[in-house]
Amino acid sequence: MAKYEPVIGLEVHVQLLTATKAFCGCANQFGSEPNTNICPVCLGLPGALPVLNEKAVEFATLAALALHCEVRERSIFARKNYFYPDLPKGYQISQFDKPIAEHGWIDVPAADGSMKRIGITRLHMEEDAGKSLHDGFADSATRSYLDLNRCGTPLIEIVSEPDIRTPDEAFEYLTRLKEILLYTAVSDCNMEEGSLRCDANISVRPRGQEKFGTKAEVKNVNSFRFIRLALEYEIERQIELIEAGGRVTQETRLWNSTEGRTYSMRSKEQAHDYRYFPEPDLPPLVLTAEFVAQRSAELPELPEVRRGRMIAEYDLNVQDAHTLTASREFADRFEAAARSARNPRRVANILISELGGRLKAQGLEQEQSPISMAGVVLAADLLEEGKISSKQLKQLFDVSFAKGEDFTAVYERERPEQITDSSAIEAMIDQVIAANPKQVEQYRAGKKTVAGFFVGQVMKASKGQANPALLNELVTKKLEG
Ligand SMILES: [Zn+2]
Repeated sequence: MAKYEPVIGLEVHVQLLTATKAFCGCANQFGSEPNTNICPVCLGLPGALPVLNEKAVEFATLAALALHCEVRERSIFARKNYFYPDLPKGYQISQFDKPIAEHGWIDVPAADGSMKRIGITRLHMEEDAGKSLHDGFADSATRSYLDLNRCGTPLIEIVSEPDIRTPDEAFEYLTRLKEILLYTAVSDCNMEEGSLRCDANISVRPRGQEKFGTKAEVKNVNSFRFIRLALEYEIERQIELIEAGGRVTQETRLWNSTEGRTYSMRSKEQAHDYRYFPEPDLPPLVLTAEFVAQRSAELPELPEVRRGRMIAEYDLNVQDAHTLTASREFADRFEAAARSARNPRRVANILISELGGRLKAQGLEQEQSPISMAGVVLAADLLEEGKISSKQLKQLFDVSFAKGEDFTAVYERERPEQITDSSAIEAMIDQVIAANPKQVEQYRAGKKTVAGFFVGQVMKASKGQANPALLNELVTKKLEG
């Protein structure tokens, strides 16, 4: 590994969330009965003419801007010719030398903690092909079936520069790309349904060498975790091959997740010649400055920028900021809650540790939480005002989860008792002080953090009912006295 440097580039296909297909009025829908969302246009029957879906162009432009690409004023659709049973037209409408957007980037965290910029060569529009079904039928051993519903589904293909150097960087790039696409709401990025698909080009070269090594392409891996594993495997395989005196062949390889290895699928010694030519049935796509400006105005605050702002605004750490921005919808809900609470930081704490911890322990998603955002805000405010202790909050949250009731209802009913009588609290403090002379000595010798020990002991003695603010104040007073 020390002798070699991996060079990785990623190609990501993303289905756009339009209601209809790219060039016809058929529903763009996953999971329909096979061959029900089809028409002469998406089947490419003779004489049928494509009409470009404006929404697809809006989404492609939005994604391009979110990825910091330059949007081309005039782009050209082209035919990519090849034969495949699930491509009845014999060509895909794509873009070739004049794609809709180029020269973008995504910043990813590097191993040393700094941010590294990964270039995006191009983003182009194209249509999806249909699907061959090789399994699941009684006669699957001898026949394959075709479902052409996917023909004509609008796609964008996002091609990175070969800037990625480690499987971890590839994982981060994909994670951030997906996050940006979800924030801009151009795709649901559902990998199980094939809305987001990734191919990786990978080669290795001796460190210090300028020229790239021969690359292999790993295709259609269905999770980011598997991409990372496939790249790790490929790097090792290629280095071993070269070290043993062999050479890497240019080929397409498939990842087998059960065996944890890649297999050669087909040689790519000769570059494919798709005989691209401009699509004669579609005029050049011309985007006015006004159209692009409108999309620019629609861009949401992007995840990385949002995290930076939230860290500053709510005093969060980086990890908490990631948790709270996991989806745009969740971040919106958190911010609305944080702004209505007395102390936003408390809302973040409760969401992440108290609520998040319990959801995780029970294997629940955020949407399945018995405690609403309003409940979280109430809990944060009660804690902030010292009306409940953190121990009481934990108990009430436990009741919420046990009964499937919101915190607001549980709090109204239980109204946990709180001791706000100074003399009662002082009496308990006196007892704890008397029982722990060693800790008192430590405190008086200057170890002020020992105060926390006394607060904890008294809180325990009061069964979590001592008013926390008052308790803190009285403990300090007693110890200083
Ligand atoms: Zn159609």
